[in-house]
Amino acid sequence: MTPKHFLSFHVEEHFHVPAFDSPMRRRHWDRCESRVEKNTDKILDLLAERQVRATFFVLGWVAQRHGALIRRIAGEGHEIASHGYGHELLSALTTKQFQEDVRKSKQILEDLTGESVWGYRAPGYSLTEETKWALPLLVEEGYTYDSSLCVEPDRGSRGSVSYRLDSTQGPLWEIPLHGLKMAGLSMLTHGFSMRLLSYRLLRKLLKRAETDHKSIVAHLRAWEVDPTQPRMRGRSWAVFQQYHNLDKVEDRLRVLLRDFQFRPLREALRHLAVREATFAVVEASQK
Ligand SMILES: [Zn+2]
Repeated sequence: MTPKHFLSFHVEEHFHVPAFDSPMRRRHWDRCESRVEKNTDKILDLLAERQVRATFFVLGWVAQRHGALIRRIAGEGHEIASHGYGHELLSALTTKQFQEDVRKSKQILEDLTGESVWGYRAPGYSLTEETKWALPLLVEEGYTYDSSLCVEPDRGSRGSVSYRLDSTQGPLWEIPLHGLKMAGLSMLTHGFSMRLLSYRLLRKLLKRAETDHKSIVAHLRAWEVDPTQPRMRGRSWAVFQQYHNLDKVEDRLRVLLRDFQFRPLREALRHLAVREATFAVVEASQK
């Protein structure tokens, strides 16, 4: 059977990217032009065309300002998960600040949708060996899974895309970001690789993963479907990563959705959902 891959989006503004962040710029976020709603709607339309559901990791800061958008995403059957509140790298936060950040974003999202948030993805790939102290805190704050750790492609080859981490606060499921192997290098399946590689090569790599019975966790940021976003000044590598081939993303996403099958991340934990539903039935029958 052909494996279904996992698809996720980061609901954030173009000016939230850490490479362009500074305390000065952060103070002016509310004065920047907001484009997240238009960009996310474009993604929702592409998904609706193919009847694909995905996971949307939403920034609490965005959810506070665009509640109707978050309800629209959930209303179309997609999973709402947390991308934290203020898009600060974990290395810049104390444990207390991190806990407040993930608690606040979860609460905002749950208040908007009336549904519990299971998943978390750290901003800017900042959940690393050095910041693994965050994992037990996610359990403490009621998260079921994390999808932030980057692992080598071969780690995802055990038939299951997720694995259980036992933290001091209890179990947490990890749905890691693992990449595609190319010429000995590992490349994450994110929007930047979708912009950097030709579609032909991307397709070939994904097909090879399927032959090996591997599911890929792909992710794109909402601003990556926006080729006319305002240009920010920064280091040349950051500028390249932000703006290279933005005009190709919409078409590439469309063909990717045509050529491959995707699902939300929460479905990697279907066994937990089944168990939860069984408990609900047992509880109801006991009343
Ligand atoms: Zn982000």
